[in-house]
Amino acid sequence: MQPTTPNTASPDLSEAMADAGLKPGRSPVPVLLPDGALVFRVRAERLRTLAKDHPLQDWLEFVALISDAQADISARDLPQWVEDSPATAWLDDFAALTAGIKDLVPTPAQQALAENDPQDIHDIAARLLEGRLKGQDLALAPFIVAALQVAWTRHAASQQAEDIHVQSREGGCPVCGSAPVASMIHIGMESGGLRYLHCSLCNTAWHHVRTTCVACGEDKGLSYRLIEELGTAVRAETCDCCHSYLKQVMADKAPGAEPLADDLAMLALDILLAEDGYQPLGVNPFLLLADEDGDDAEQPDG
Ligand SMILES: [Zn+2]
Ligand SMILES: [Zn+2]
Repeated sequence: MQPTTPNTASPDLSEAMADAGLKPGRSPVPVLLPDGALVFRVRAERLRTLAKDHPLQDWLEFVALISDAQADISARDLPQWVEDSPATAWLDDFAALTAGIKDLVPTPAQQALAENDPQDIHDIAARLLEGRLKGQDLALAPFIVAALQVAWTRHAASQQAEDIHVQSREGGCPVCGSAPVASMIHIGMESGGLRYLHCSLCNTAWHHVRTTCVACGEDKGLSYRLIEELGTAVRAETCDCCHSYLKQVMADKAPGAEPLADDLAMLALDILLAEDGYQPLGVNPFLLLADEDGDDAEQPDG
């Protein structure tokens, strides 16, 4: 039984909140828009913390370097870019990002950047957004991901949260339509204890009720998996109704946790769940591998 809570919401609002999985009387913020420079700074710091003695140390540090560059570009005051569509503005971000970072990255990445052709960049971005990368795309993909994230995060930050409608039972980002990278159980006054899905592209977070499958909406077949030796801050919510899973970052168990960074560092859980036949619902754009039709590229090792 639930205690009766004072409910001052109108019937329409109550219904809309129920659709979004929210309880009238307790009014969590349905959408949290990003602060571009901050989100990338926090990510860089978290990646460096997680990189210590990690099997993917080189890769995590490489993504941290990219996150630094993303933060630098996001902090610039370039009002004309805000008015451009993120679908085209990202090319300016790509130029700015690679100019700033090209001397700092490992040699193979330096070579790929030196040889890049504008048409190739365009084509790789299209394949990337469709999740169909080829083996030869992998050297440039992280930089293209980074530029797309900067442009789309700037776009998300320019929106008004109250204008954005969160659809119930839909995993896609309400701003850009992309898949979440992971979910996070937040701490803090406004959203503490609530689950938010975090966008893999524009860094918007949107509320989703806990203990309900994000893919199919069922609550019967849910269970949780984690790898105890690797800590309890990241677990996977698995659904036996639709055989999908989404990682969940528990902010109370890991001060400084950041969804993309913590998801990346917990790749071991993806491997475990793939062996058990579960399909990932989340997408980490720094873990994209080549499509089967491409060549046999494996995990990139920045
Ligand atoms: Zn988004
Ligand atoms: Zn499900």
